[in-house]
Amino acid sequence: MRIFDPHIHMTSRTTDDYEAMYAAGVRALVEPSFWLGQPRTSPESFFDYFDSLLGWEPFRAAQYGIAHHCTVALNPKEANDPRCLPVLDALPRFLVKDNVVAVGEIGYDSMTPAEDTALAAQLQLAADHGLPALVHTPHRDKLTGMRRTIDVVRESALDPEFVLLDHLNETTVKEAADSGCWLGFSIYPDTKMDEDRMVAVLKSHGTEKMLVNSAADWGKSDPLKTRRTADAMLAAGFSDDDIDQVLWRNPVAFYGRSGRLQLDAAAPGDLHEGNSILRGGE
Ligand SMILES: [Zn+2]
Repeated sequence: MRIFDPHIHMTSRTTDDYEAMYAAGVRALVEPSFWLGQPRTSPESFFDYFDSLLGWEPFRAAQYGIAHHCTVALNPKEANDPRCLPVLDALPRFLVKDNVVAVGEIGYDSMTPAEDTALAAQLQLAADHGLPALVHTPHRDKLTGMRRTIDVVRESALDPEFVLLDHLNETTVKEAADSGCWLGFSIYPDTKMDEDRMVAVLKSHGTEKMLVNSAADWGKSDPLKTRRTADAMLAAGFSDDDIDQVLWRNPVAFYGRSGRLQLDAAAPGDLHEGNSILRGGE
């Protein structure tokens, strides 16, 4: 089984997680830039973070046999802090990098006017750069937030075929599907969406344009939720081909719109003299 996790925050995970993910079948992933928990107070701390998503984290992933790509953006939460807004002006120099396969995560957190502005501006940036966009739908007031998100996408220059609406659930999947966007589901350990509910959604809505991710970060989360969903699909009677479509071909098709996916990673165990980290100016 080959698995592509289309949304996982590896910055917050250990090398044990990389090993376990490889053993479970994960061969590629996309790490969206996001809120780091501690609010940032200057654009420069975003730039260092983006650079680590472009350099350090792909290097770490490759040692465990996993191809790593990222998305960059000003996230919805920090779009509300005027000190962070210069990030929007600096994004074009990151969006031209080979490893950036989308603009994201963008979308709404509390649905403020500042979030409106940042979302519209970044959908435009995606259109200008021929990149897809990863759009986070809010966890609170889900349906209202998703409808407003779809309205902003419709008013933008970006084709819905280039938009992945993420964190969907049973209440939002139908309208999200009608919008023509790709459909993302984040599977969590005890809250929001779980793998059995995901299987039920796939049974009623099919496997077209459906993407499943673990969204694992510093909170309680499980980087193997992609594999657990695949196992739940198998137990529910889905075929190997259905599983391959949802857990590999759909994310490859969506992020492939960037023209930048490189799915060959270094073999695991390809370490530098037995040391998994190149230390000191090598
Ligand atoms: Zn995320």
